[in-house]
Amino acid sequence: MRVIDSHCHLDFTELRPWLQTSLAQARAAGVDTWLVPGVTAATWQSLLEFCQQQPGAYPALGLHPYFIAEHRPQDVVWLAQLLKQQAPLAVGEIGLDKCIEPLHWQWQLQLCEQQLRLAEQAGLPVILHVRKAHQEMQALLKQVGFSHGGIVHAFSGSAEQAEPYLRRGFKLGVGGALTYPRAQRLHRLVKALPDAWVLETDAPSMPLMGYQGEPNLPHRILEVLQHIAQLWQLSPEQAAARLTAQTLQVLPGLAAAKTPC
Ligand SMILES: [Zn+2]
Repeated sequence: MRVIDSHCHLDFTELRPWLQTSLAQARAAGVDTWLVPGVTAATWQSLLEFCQQQPGAYPALGLHPYFIAEHRPQDVVWLAQLLKQQAPLAVGEIGLDKCIEPLHWQWQLQLCEQQLRLAEQAGLPVILHVRKAHQEMQALLKQVGFSHGGIVHAFSGSAEQAEPYLRRGFKLGVGGALTYPRAQRLHRLVKALPDAWVLETDAPSMPLMGYQGEPNLPHRILEVLQHIAQLWQLSPEQAAARLTAQTLQVLPGLAAAKTPC
């Protein structure tokens, strides 16, 4: 069985005390690849170094809307250079978030558009973070003519909101949210659209049911896999094979990268 975590902040300091044990547990069960998204220009360098040292960890580079107040116009110029020099797997995580304070909405739109254009030019997929802004995101994707797909991370929208992303070549990220009994709409959507999903933890965020209030840990992706397998009435191995194939479709750079043993 091969499992890919398409969104995991392995470099975040909150994970440090548990990191090696959790990764060893994950590896023993077949998790061999992690996409580690970038969030601020100040942490890109340490993220790149982290991924060089950690077998199976691959970087994406981007400016996360959650840290909107930290981003500067020159960060985008540096991002363009790093995309050429460092060849990350994706641009991310980038996006639009209407739930943050301060909102800086115009700056969010501008930064997201600029990063979509860089990804389009570089031929790279994007890792999108979208909260309460699916319409605005669709408008940006259209305006940029974005054509390289990617992942809408932690998708919790409706079938109607999912559809235009899927048409544009995106997959939807699913993680700990699925383990809550109240997530019925998500359960229905995972069942109805089996070809749409890729696995993620978003560790140390998005704890699974039963672990609220604790940092989420990378090996818990295996519990998410169990839940999906149950919904699809497949064995975990069969579900993992489907999810891994779907992840490689939207992260072609991973398919080319050699798998660590
Ligand atoms: Zn994230």
